[in-house]
Amino acid sequence: MQVFKCLSCNKIEKINKKELEREMPCPKCNGTMYRIVPKMKLGEILLTFQWITEEDLNMALHIQRQLSRSYPIGKVLKLTGKIENKIIEKALEFQRSELEEKARYSVEI
Ligand SMILES: [Zn+2]
Repeated sequence: MQVFKCLSCNKIEKINKKELEREMPCPKCNGTMYRIVPKMKLGEILLTFQWITEEDLNMALHIQRQLSRSYPIGKVLKLTGKIENKIIEKALEFQRSELEEKARYSVEI
């Protein structure tokens, strides 16, 4: 099961689907929804907010595979010069707040 939350109206949507969906508008207000469960990866957050393109991410993942899988994707993206440091900081900040969101809803989920 996946759980999404709307950025605009805070609507929670639970979806019984295995495949990951990203571009799903909010059924209530048509706003952007982001996934709470399972936790989004940094690359997914950057894509959700359109801070990078799919192409940028694929390139970074390709480079990451050549370096080391444990090499943080944020650092790889920084190396490619496709993204500013402050955007990565913003995404990491969102990832932290997302964890709090998850904790808040895990009781109901
Ligand atoms: Zn909404």
